[in-house]
Amino acid sequence: MNAQNTIQAIEPSEIDAVVERQKQYFLTGETRSIPFRREQLIKLREAVLRFEPKLLDALKRDLNKSEAEAYTTEIGIVLSEIRIALRHVRRWSKPDRVRTPMTHFGASSRIVPEPYGTTLIIGPWNYPVNLMLVPVVSAIAAGNTIVMKPSEMAPATSRTLAALVRETFRPEYVALLEGEASVSTELLKRPFDHIFFTGSPQVGRIVMEAAAKQLVPVTLELGGKSPCIVHKDARLALAAKRVVYGKLTNAGQTCVAPDYLLVHKEAKAELLKEIANAVEAFYGQEPLRDPDYGRIVNERHYRRLLGYLEEGRIAYGGQTDDEALQIAPTLLEGVSTNSRVMREEIFGPILPVLEYETTEELLAIVRANPKPLALYVFSENARFQQDIIREVPFGGGCINDTLMHLGTPYLPFGGVGTSGLGSYHGEHGFRTFSHYKSVLKQTSRFDFPFRYPKAKNGLNII
Ligand code: NAD
Repeated sequence: MNAQNTIQAIEPSEIDAVVERQKQYFLTGETRSIPFRREQLIKLREAVLRFEPKLLDALKRDLNKSEAEAYTTEIGIVLSEIRIALRHVRRWSKPDRVRTPMTHFGASSRIVPEPYGTTLIIGPWNYPVNLMLVPVVSAIAAGNTIVMKPSEMAPATSRTLAALVRETFRPEYVALLEGEASVSTELLKRPFDHIFFTGSPQVGRIVMEAAAKQLVPVTLELGGKSPCIVHKDARLALAAKRVVYGKLTNAGQTCVAPDYLLVHKEAKAELLKEIANAVEAFYGQEPLRDPDYGRIVNERHYRRLLGYLEEGRIAYGGQTDDEALQIAPTLLEGVSTNSRVMREEIFGPILPVLEYETTEELLAIVRANPKPLALYVFSENARFQQDIIREVPFGGGCINDTLMHLGTPYLPFGGVGTSGLGSYHGEHGFRTFSHYKSVLKQTSRFDFPFRYPKAKNGLNII
């Protein structure tokens, strides 16, 4: 197949052509058959395995991700989603027979999942393989055609994904368009049948506005400030290890990273000591010298993060490397809840530490920001855990852990309010890319005249 999936300097007319060809191809019905969907998922799996060394290399170049981290947080998750989709796609696609009320006597009802049609997937740079390919798995399983637009801020990964897509799929089925935000702007003017966007709440608004103009349904996977609460009865050494893991994976550039720490006053001193121990156990005394410690994606974000260091007292860490764009794991104390570091999503290895004494105090701090994407609570007290889970609206989270809710295909992953709209992973991803069509099949063997205007009561046998 010589046709190009990847278009570098893309003209609006070329975008029109890609979308139009996909719409025509969808109408052939080929993408709807279950054997076809399974075949494409297998092709995708083979391609991911074939491209694995190139993807690992690209992730190293874009974000200095270690192989182990790139596998567990990116490639491994894509393969696990493919496995689940292959195993269950037939069942997920089956029409569901549901009850029919007595008022509709004689009729039967079913709900039929069907693909939306031609879908658009726009992704961010921080997990550029996972966040582009996992939605693609769901979209394929649901029977759609797909246009992908990865982030230009992870250019090596964008190029590698482009090659993977080009070698694996025909562009009328799956096409990948590389480029800057302007490519998304153009794409968003096209009549897609569903838009799946992962990125910042700011751009999420732009995407939703564009979609509203054409009434296209959207899924928005956004971000926010995810609190991490450590209560006085938590197992502090364990909590510290899991907080450090969640915060420093990808150097804190994770949408569900613990953004700030809320620790009970009585546990604070010991927790901070344990956090320092955990950092040193994972990355050594000098994390900036550890070849596996992540770097900040670009100069702009690096400078933004340096600005936060001015807003509090550095209790641990604080070293920086302008050349390598790296910031050591840093604990920041004495920050005001009105400071930028407590208002903006941090997205880096800086952890503000705030203390509380009462649950009310803690809730007031959390509620000062919009509904978070994630929340983590460390405590051995079931009542305290439940209180926090009930009182704070958030997308998803963990009790006594961080990040791990993301790694299971059985939990829906998504935000709420400004942290997102809709969810995916496993069957939830299939549902996100499907329309559930309601079909009532009426009998033509008899008819009730009383349903019609001015009719006499009685049953007419036809
Ligand atoms: P971003 O919103 O800047 O960019 C995301 C994508 O949108 C990129 O492909 C970019 O080219 C495109 N884009 C940028 N400006 C645009 C515009 N004006 N119009 C149309 N498209 C535009 O996000 P980012 O910096 O790549 O990623 C970081 C953000 O994403 C953080 O807020 C983070 O929390 C969030 N995020 C969320 C999830 C999640 O699953 N919920 C996952 C990762 C990242």
